[in-house]
Amino acid sequence: MKIAGKVEIDDLPHICPLLSRKTNPRYGEAQTRIVQVGRVRFGGERPVVIAGPCAVENREQTLEVARAVKGSGADMLRGGAYKPRTSPHDFQGLGLEGLEILREASRDTGLPVVTEVMDPRLVGQVAEYADMLQIGSRNMQNYPLLVEVGRARKPVLLKRGMAAGLCEWLGAAEYIASEGNFDIVLCERGIKAYPNGEYSRYSLDLNVIPAVKAETFLPVIVDPSHATGVSAMVEGASRAAIEFGAHGLIIEVASDRLDAAKPKCDAAQAISPRTLRKIVHYIDARQEQFLGAVRAP
Ligand code: PEP
Ligand code: MN
Repeated sequence: MKIAGKVEIDDLPHICPLLSRKTNPRYGEAQTRIVQVGRVRFGGERPVVIAGPCAVENREQTLEVARAVKGSGADMLRGGAYKPRTSPHDFQGLGLEGLEILREASRDTGLPVVTEVMDPRLVGQVAEYADMLQIGSRNMQNYPLLVEVGRARKPVLLKRGMAAGLCEWLGAAEYIASEGNFDIVLCERGIKAYPNGEYSRYSLDLNVIPAVKAETFLPVIVDPSHATGVSAMVEGASRAAIEFGAHGLIIEVASDRLDAAKPKCDAAQAISPRTLRKIVHYIDARQEQFLGAVRAP
């Protein structure tokens, strides 16, 4: 029986001829495209760590967390000025004011910044402030938005739709590449699965990392914060992602000062700067081991 619309890995050369290794031989069978954001290189030997608050809530909170993640060894800053919230009655982000704050935090720390854009009409605005444009899970298949970010000439962080298969995800990336922008970093952020909500927010699909690497040359990172929704799980999920070959992590961090205000979104998954430092040390130690092995006769 033939099912209309069913997609399989074998269809990838048709779905994404620009990005499939089978149809675009530029990176061979195993090479990764380097996506450069300022001095940060995705797809190189060293995994990249992006960290910051879920949302930009105010100037003080953002500057504090930005300085803390810089101190913990992060390479890049994250933070949402436009937030996709389940309820329209919840905090939606500070918008343009949030972008101004992000720019200040980025200049203050020297960290390039990635932030989400949700509206095709705002791609120009967000691109003026951000070093990298984030497409959120809920917008992975917003095709007009993908086309706009493809035209923006800025690197793009494309999160996997929470119910998207690999083919749909790479098909979404192809929309961006079709506009001439190949500076795309993929991000696995947890998928909907049967036990979701019982002990974790989503299910971290580690298996997709080697699968992505086999099918395309784009770098792939992991978001252990949204994938688990539980701060105590973030460190382990981060290590696991690195062991599975992820090219980096994007992690939500909040202040651990006792008198700090509780984050307005995703408080339960935020880790402290100290835990972030442990994750960075883990990557450093692994890197040392790798370099030692390369140097050994
Ligand atoms: C985020 O990273 O801020 C976010 C909303 O993540 P996702 O789109 O993966 O839910
Ligand atoms: Mn969040």
